[in-house]
Amino acid sequence: MAYTPSPARYSAMEYRRCGTSGLKLPALSLGLWHNFGHVDVLENSRQILHDAFDAGVTHFDLANNYGPPPGSAEENFGKILHEDFRNHRDELIISTKAGYRMWEGPYGEWGSRKYLISSLDQSLKRMNLDYVDIFYSHRPDPDTPLEETMGALDSIVRQGKALYVGISNYETAEAKRAIEILKELGTPCLIHQPKYSMFVRWVEESLLDLLEDKGVGCIPFSPLAQGLLTNKYLKGIPVNSRAAKPHGFLQEEDITEQRIQQIQKLNNLAQERGQSLAQMALAWLLKDPRVTSVLIGASTPAQLADSLKCMQNTQFSTDELAQIETILQT
Ligand code: NDP
Repeated sequence: MAYTPSPARYSAMEYRRCGTSGLKLPALSLGLWHNFGHVDVLENSRQILHDAFDAGVTHFDLANNYGPPPGSAEENFGKILHEDFRNHRDELIISTKAGYRMWEGPYGEWGSRKYLISSLDQSLKRMNLDYVDIFYSHRPDPDTPLEETMGALDSIVRQGKALYVGISNYETAEAKRAIEILKELGTPCLIHQPKYSMFVRWVEESLLDLLEDKGVGCIPFSPLAQGLLTNKYLKGIPVNSRAAKPHGFLQEEDITEQRIQQIQKLNNLAQERGQSLAQMALAWLLKDPRVTSVLIGASTPAQLADSLKCMQNTQFSTDELAQIETILQT
């Protein structure tokens, strides 16, 4: 049956301004790194996209290499987009990236103008789109002048292939230079996409302050630490989990005894707050107004539904915050 989006889709979601730009993003965005490749079940991917949009999630995040195989998440997304969302393109923020290895030879990864522009052309073909809303340099390239990488982003916007540009995985000093170069070129940096969760806190040292100062948005990825900050691994590694899949990026050795003890204590605190651990971990990121949107993954519609409910309580008492810090330091 043809998909008709829920008429109530904009009432339940909060939209936050991305830095000082004119663009607003949903507090929760959906990433297609895992669960949308040709190895996955297309109808499950489709249902997750429908449910997300029905809940006001207007932002879908991709990259050239998402799959597996690389490129297949963009192909599947493009297929579903044209079958089910064709009348809603102007309601969507679609992002993609280039930086990691995508094809053989010297032009298939990192940050050269050659790679970034060719890769975006490939992504547009795979998704059957004229433009993406946000295009990212996926990682800094130590061997290419930052002026070249940022210059490519600027050209991409001027060519109409992306409306905005962003950077991902750039440390604070690199991010500062990149933001300044883009400003000089006349194409402001919209957003930075760093890894950030209760378990990965480096952005708190100086990146968030920099982004606020420069008027750049922030969209943390892997906010659930790839599923660790949920009730999933409380009793070992379940089949069908990312840690059990051969192509999953979460490794068994990441699930240490110390981590499991922390997760159990955090889970107890979440229950006291009337939330699942996933909801508390997402709410904990959203409590900071410098975080524009939190970029989640989901392997099932039920996980997505669970995570979306984090919006019902993003307030933390001083005592709860202190308890979380104590648990994270053990
Ligand atoms: P998360 O930390 O949100 O992990 C998602 C995984 O956690 C799911 O696949 C699922 O694992 C589990 N999960 C999610 N919700 C629940 C729930 N409510 N209850 C129980 N388990 C749950 O994010 P990702 O690591 O997937 O990253 C999100 C997005 O960020 C990516 O899709 C991508 O768009 C972006 N990203 C960007 C990177 C970059 O370099 N810029 C790098 C990595 C990600 P399971 O599959 O085991 O069921």
